[in-house]
Formats: sequence, C-alpha cells, structure tokens
Amino acid sequence: MVDKTALIYTDKFQIYNFGPQHPLRPLRIKLTYSLMEKLNLFNNERLEVFEPSLATQKEIERAHDPEYVEIVKKLSETPMDRSVQPYLYGLDTGDTPVFKGMYEASALVCGASLLATDMVWQDNDISIAFNPAGGLHHAHKKKASGFCIFNDIAVAIHHLKNLKNDIRIAYLDIDCHHGDGVQGFFYDDPNVLTISFHESGKFLFPGTGNTKEVGEGAGKGFSINFPLLPGTNNRMFRKLFRYCVPRILEAYAPDVLLTQLGADMYFGDPLTQMGLSISIYRDIAQTLYTSAHDYCQNKWIAVGGGGYLMTAVPRAWTLFLARMIDVELKNELPDEWVNQVKEEVPYETTPYLLWDRDDKAEIQLLSHPEIATKMIDYNRELRALCDEEFIPNLKKKS
Ligand SMILES: [Zn+2]
Repeated sequence: MVDKTALIYTDKFQIYNFGPQHPLRPLRIKLTYSLMEKLNLFNNERLEVFEPSLATQKEIERAHDPEYVEIVKKLSETPMDRSVQPYLYGLDTGDTPVFKGMYEASALVCGASLLATDMVWQDNDISIAFNPAGGLHHAHKKKASGFCIFNDIAVAIHHLKNLKNDIRIAYLDIDCHHGDGVQGFFYDDPNVLTISFHESGKFLFPGTGNTKEVGEGAGKGFSINFPLLPGTNNRMFRKLFRYCVPRILEAYAPDVLLTQLGADMYFGDPLTQMGLSISIYRDIAQTLYTSAHDYCQNKWIAVGGGGYLMTAVPRAWTLFLARMIDVELKNELPDEWVNQVKEEVPYETTPYLLWDRDDKAEIQLLSHPEIATKMIDYNRELRALCDEEFIPNLKKKS
C-alpha cells in the first residue's frame, strides 16, 4: 500500500490578514498553492487535498484560557471596543493588531491543523499531512504574540492527547524564531518533546530558546534548543541538523512527529539574518521524511510558519510537499508562476530557479576566516551538547 499525503487548503486562508503593511501576508499561502498546482503536484495519486473548517471553541479552549478566547471573540466582532484592554492580552500591538474577523481566521487555522492531525492519526492510508497556513508558534495560553493569536500547534497537540491519553509527540520547529509558545505550553510535559532550531535569542525575537531551557519538573530534559548564530550557512546547518535530528528522534521514539516549517531562515528574509538558501529545505525535507518513517511510526504532521518573502516561502514549501509525495522536481520554475509573482510582488527580485544554491553566505565567510572558524567551533559545541546532554537526558527518562 502506498502512503498518501494530505494537503490542507482553502482560499479562505486569506482571511488571516493583518493588513497590507504587515509582513505576514496570506498571499504566500496562495502563491504556494499556485506553485504546487503549476508543477502538477495535484495530479499525483499520492496526494489528496482537503478543505478545513473552523475549530470549535471547545477545541481551542483545550489549549487556551477561556477568558482569552472570549476577548479575541469580542474584539473580532468589534475591534474598536475599549471596554477590554487588548494589550493585556498581547493584542493590538504593532506585531499583532486587532482586525475584524480575527476569531474566525484564527479558528480556521486551528481547524486546518486539527484536520491534518486527524488525517494522520485516524486515516490508515494517510501518513503525512501538511497545513501550510498553520504554525502560529508564538501564541501563549492567555496571550497573543508575534503575529500569532491562537496557537494551532498547541491546539493540535491537545487534540492528540485527547485521542490517546499517553501519546508521545515530538515537535520540531525550524522557524528562524524560537518556538517559545509551544515550548511554554508543554514545558513540564515529558510526553511532548519540543525541539527548536532558530536564530539565537541574543539577536532575534522572542529572545528565548537558549540551550539551558531544557524543561521543568517531569518535563525536564524534554525541551531542546539549538540557538544558531546569524549568518549560519547551508553547510553548517545541514551538518548540525542531519547529525542531531535523527538521533534525538530515535532516542525519544515518539508516536507521531509534528513539525513547524517556518521558512524565514532564508538568507533574503527581511526579518532575520541567516545565510541559508532554498536548497537547504530539500535537505531538511529528506531528513524529516526518513526520520518520520524510521523513528516516528511513519506519522508526520506538518504545518507552515514564518517566512516573509513571497517569492521564497512558496518554493520552500513546495519542496517539502514534493518530498512528502516522492516527486523529484526539476530545478526550474513554471513561467506562469514567475509571471504571477512579477505581477503580485513586483518589488521582490524575480526568482528563476525552484531552489537556489546561493552561496553568498559562504563566500562572505571565506573573506572572514576567523569568523568562519568561530562559527564552525560553535556548531561543533552544539553537536557535542546533543550527544552529551540532550540525548542522555531523553534516554534516562524515556
Ligand atoms: Zn519566524
């Protein structure tokens, strides 16, 4: 039997929209779907597309505080209502402004991650599901943060726990920003292992995610963080990721893998300072595909995340989907799609390859060998930490 992949998609994802000046633009989801379509991925027998519906208030409240959910609902109906103080809940800030319909928009993202979860957990034919609109990893129990109102990942994890009491979930986050919300929700929970690769909090929002954040109480040892230096390039990232991720997942042996696939580690991303090119996402996809199969019961739920170049995110996520359904794509872009991005985002550099191997970051480092040496040493220390602390901690308790 062939394992199938479910893509969760609806045009209604466009309603999660903070306005034209905001960096998180739902256009990237539309352009992602368009690229997948123009590359004929939807004609593949291993792929099925499903349309999500809104998560119920009860499902959202498994993760979020009911008082906070009510506040979001109220402001969603009347954004100018000042009988509540939105900033106490992280709302109406520059990052996460209030907008009419934000409750439904956020509930739809949660509903899509719940559908992805059900597909993988309940449907025998489907082993992978991908909700590109999901991945709102900064939202906390009672507080919005960093463009995230409801944490669809925490909602999905609670749903899984509701389906199977003692389920063990490995959550892996490759967004350039630390997955602080998800880590916070499950910081004392040994049944949810959180692993985050991100630009170090010394340089980037939200400032957390250092290697000493390992969990607390019964959950001690079940939060793992890889804070990376700005300018980290493909070669360094690949070495670290390929080395650590399969070993950690093998040691934990979860019932299911849940990944947040934020694509803002790309070197051109306007909000971050990393040195990775799109080709890294092919490597990451390969490692995750193999690891899900070998160590995570062949169950992989994927959600999107950050990524602020409309021309980069669709390419990264298309590469993930292609790997999921075992399609080897050529390194070229359909003219139709290129014309579409020229029209929609004329101010972005027009891409001409599906994945660039841009080695700008490596070339920059060649002219600063002393910095390169420091970065290589730093990554070696992270690998050693993984071997000497992270994995032994997991084995001790699992
Ligand atoms: Zn991010």
